[in-house]
Amino acid sequence: MSKYLKKNEVDDLNAKIGHQYKLVWDVIDAVETKAVFDLSEKYKLFLDKAKTEREAVAFIQKQAAQNGFVDIDIEKNSSTGKFYKIHRSKAIALGIAGKSPILSGMHIIASHIDSPRLDLKQNPIYEKEKIAFFKTHYYGGIKKYQWLVRPLAIHGTIIKNNQETVNICIGESDNDPVFTIADLLPHLAAKIQTNKKISEAFEAEKLNIIIGSIPIGDEKIKKRFKTGALKHIFDKYDIVEEDFTSAEIEVVPAGKARDIGFDRSLIGAYGQDDRICAFTSLETILNINNPKATSIVMFFDKEEIGSEGNTGAKSRFLEDFISDMQIKTGQDASERVLRKALINSSAISADVNAALDPDFQNVHEKRNAARLGYGICIKKFTGSRGKAGASDASAEYLGKIRHIFNDSNIIWQTGELGKVDQGGGGTVAKFLAKYGMDILDCGPCILAMHSPMEISSKADVYMTYKGYKAFLLS
Ligand code: MN
Ligand code: MN
Repeated sequence: MSKYLKKNEVDDLNAKIGHQYKLVWDVIDAVETKAVFDLSEKYKLFLDKAKTEREAVAFIQKQAAQNGFVDIDIEKNSSTGKFYKIHRSKAIALGIAGKSPILSGMHIIASHIDSPRLDLKQNPIYEKEKIAFFKTHYYGGIKKYQWLVRPLAIHGTIIKNNQETVNICIGESDNDPVFTIADLLPHLAAKIQTNKKISEAFEAEKLNIIIGSIPIGDEKIKKRFKTGALKHIFDKYDIVEEDFTSAEIEVVPAGKARDIGFDRSLIGAYGQDDRICAFTSLETILNINNPKATSIVMFFDKEEIGSEGNTGAKSRFLEDFISDMQIKTGQDASERVLRKALINSSAISADVNAALDPDFQNVHEKRNAARLGYGICIKKFTGSRGKAGASDASAEYLGKIRHIFNDSNIIWQTGELGKVDQGGGGTVAKFLAKYGMDILDCGPCILAMHSPMEISSKADVYMTYKGYKAFLLS
């Protein structure tokens, strides 16, 4: 008799005690496959309508109001216990009062609605060699060369001296012009670009946007190209050069979210980090009623530059919204109760992870890399090197989330951003962890993160939505 088990016995044993992640497409039936594709249509609409944090807030506010949420700063009460609060037009919170008191803990999902982009400088307009330009200052982590020679759109808000607000969005409609940054022809690029390190070959001060080339007066007139561009801007928007000093104008890739592949299984679009989590958490809270625990969904600004500023996760917006919820639902809103409520809470930092890149597998540790199509990804920690800057979730909390997902047939995987020595990144998790609540990072993985064409799997969008829903209702 052999001392070894037979092949079928090893297979049986593996099925019992081994573990393998599942591909969503292998698991879902025809009905759920249709649900995957239906949800992705809604998601693409959100990507098209909400390319900046301000546009995302406006979109979310509209959806919230249509689904029975009331403005907590205006309304005295809400018969459904559903509230929203806008913070300086760039962050928004949605909440549903639970059956149990807020003090016993909330279920919180926090995503971010800012994305890497090019901001206009405060003195942006100039001319050089008979072409008018806007100067930009990039925001967040970009590979500069990805922003050259492609159609760009301009979205933004300008406050005029008379305090009037002007919103602009140009480059998205088929009839609009687009804008672009030129690049050097390869014939002449050898010394300046091709033979240099990429980090030195592309300079931030050369990310200048072409905005016009017809002069307004004859050649004796100085700055006639700049003035020509200014005149177009004045005629269209009634704004003058000084108005750019009090403006937030963002230059983003022009065009709509697209299906990728013959099978249309993937979505290619700008800003999926982190609108994929913003969208799925929004869909979740719009579709639940009477949760046990109070449900809170936060949409923060400024994550891409470290959650700084008064609209980022480092601000006290979350506390402010929760104390408003306590007051509007007739609960104790003292400092101590608020503090305990936050400590007693469970949260998901809803952000994307890097998907295993088939062409750059070396930067990943494949046993612990997330893969497109394998569902929502649970990340115990982010940070870099020896978990520096991480909020490292506890075994107990991971156990709880894993149980919730398994109980609701959510296809999930785990993932680290990349190999330990390779790099790293952070999310809003550590800024909510400071309240003492349980929190982990959880969201889909995407390919080509921070590029003008980030790639996600429709299957993962769907599983993320289902996962967030199971969490809020747990
Ligand atoms: Mn992110
Ligand atoms: Mn990011």
